[in-house]
Amino acid sequence: MCPSPTRRAVILGAAGIPLALRGAASAADNWLLTDRNEIEAAKTKANQNAWAKTALDDVLRNARQALQAPLTLPDRGGQWPHWYSCTRDGVKLETVSPTRHRCPQCGTEYTGEPYDSVVLYGVHSRYAQSVRDLGLAFRFTGDAAYARRAGEILSAYAARYAGYARHNTAGDDKVGGGRIMAQTLDESVWLIPVAWGYSLVRDTLAAPDRARIENDLLVAAAEVIREHRMGIHNIQCWKDSAVGCAGFAAGREDLVKDAIDNPDRGLRAQIAKGVTDDGLWYEGSLGYHSYTTPPASTTTPAPTW
Ligand SMILES: [Zn+2]
Repeated sequence: MCPSPTRRAVILGAAGIPLALRGAASAADNWLLTDRNEIEAAKTKANQNAWAKTALDDVLRNARQALQAPLTLPDRGGQWPHWYSCTRDGVKLETVSPTRHRCPQCGTEYTGEPYDSVVLYGVHSRYAQSVRDLGLAFRFTGDAAYARRAGEILSAYAARYAGYARHNTAGDDKVGGGRIMAQTLDESVWLIPVAWGYSLVRDTLAAPDRARIENDLLVAAAEVIREHRMGIHNIQCWKDSAVGCAGFAAGREDLVKDAIDNPDRGLRAQIAKGVTDDGLWYEGSLGYHSYTTPPASTTTPAPTW
């Protein structure tokens, strides 16, 4: 049992980083998101609790779907989801097809950009979730087919990443934009489950595949994210988490140190300067407090350090 986590520990736990730091399992069995002991504990819990079985079944169902779905990456990155609303009444659009987008309130139909690329935001997001769930399914079941599929998706992204144009929410190639997504924030939210999934299957992949995924995807994305420098800010916490997770997964200590120890924007600085004495995130909004401490705790245990 872990002791009650401090607020700092909760934040670090949400960042998805501490498991690798605390050394809960040997390095070979530490998969960043979880480890061998926790996989076994989760299986026991699923046998004893209906809610836990439901959660495990969800992961396995997602993974089976990812095994069966075609693997066809979009030809470009996604756009900002906030564009996906009716300009008359602000209602979120419905996707009729990849190139047709309709307001359910007034029936206005939208075509072209940025709407088409917002749909790709969802496509890329689902691939990231698939990598995570395929990795988990492999560790829960031992079925190598899950690991192979995760490796195929990761390799496909490694081959494409540099070819995706960096773009921001206006479509411009500027610092702050991403290659998969239109903001370094969204690039970070995308990269975290990708790094988790990679860590879960890493030791099943051939060395050349590992090198390509680590260098051409994980580190490359971390550098896009890291080039955009913010101070004490909820977005920077996500960026630190992504850079740290990618660094751990790729064995790049320099990235991990920057994510945690950078005196201006690392996670330690975020916690020291961003968490007020009453325990709330300084930006003064419960929304941003919750966003800075994302509910990743459902899959990331609280640390003990
Ligand atoms: Zn409308």
